[in-house]
Amino acid sequence: MTAPSASVAEPLLRLRGVRRAFGDHVVLDGIDLDVSAHEVVALVGASGSGKSTLLRTINLIERVDDGEIFLRGQDVSDPRVDADGVRARIGVVFQAYNLFPHLSVLDNVTLASRLVHRVPRAEAERRGLELLASIGLADFARAFPDRLSGGQQQRAAIVRAIATEPELLLLDEVTSALDPELVGEVLALVRSLADGGTTIVMATHEMAFAREVADRVVFLDAGRIIEDAPARQFFESPREERTREFLARFL
Ligand code: ADP
Ligand code: MG
Repeated sequence: MTAPSASVAEPLLRLRGVRRAFGDHVVLDGIDLDVSAHEVVALVGASGSGKSTLLRTINLIERVDDGEIFLRGQDVSDPRVDADGVRARIGVVFQAYNLFPHLSVLDNVTLASRLVHRVPRAEAERRGLELLASIGLADFARAFPDRLSGGQQQRAAIVRAIATEPELLLLDEVTSALDPELVGEVLALVRSLADGGTTIVMATHEMAFAREVADRVVFLDAGRIIEDAPARQFFESPREERTREFLARFL
């Protein structure tokens, strides 16, 4: 093992030999992955291939059984590391049920800034309103989440995740639970964050979107990375037979 260095070449996120099993079911089987700052990486693979577990592992919701996770060179998989402190540096959005139903949309967006990052309420709310305005939801700031459409809720969840300016944004199939006509508005927001330089790792089934927005595509199968390639190469000339079989399902 070489010691992690703080050189400019250090990836923002580095996974080495990450392994996670539930009982004797090995769900992540030696994952090596580097993500540079400002990179957008799409995680693709069949249901059950380990995408969500991988994202949960990066966010330290799941512990690793073996291997290391480095965030800017710091081994955050070390059990002595303050997991809440690491999570405060990472934004996460899941498929659904992201917003707290009993809090206003604005309180949802400002909660982490105020409680975790100790930003004064007035400042957090000014920023929160700015973010909500940027996605056309300023008028819903004082409303409760159930007044919003699914697409509006997901967009609010995404701006909530970036309100604290995390170093890394993890998106787990953020459009999978949406009615088809609401998918586009959420993908447009993700695209604008990607264009703005947000570092994103996103599990997705939206192949056209992955092709358009991701810099790299990582194909997981049974907890292993089968292929990790620039998006264009991944879709136009995949190296692995299993990748070709997987992509054929989307034709
Ligand atoms: P994906 O997101 O690619 O659909 P997941 O990471 O959700 O895949 O799941 C990968 C495998 O791990 C599945 O077989 C799933 O049943 C299993 N798994 C995930 N979480 C748990 C858990 N907490 N306990 C037992 N098995 C789990
Ligand atoms: Mg999943």
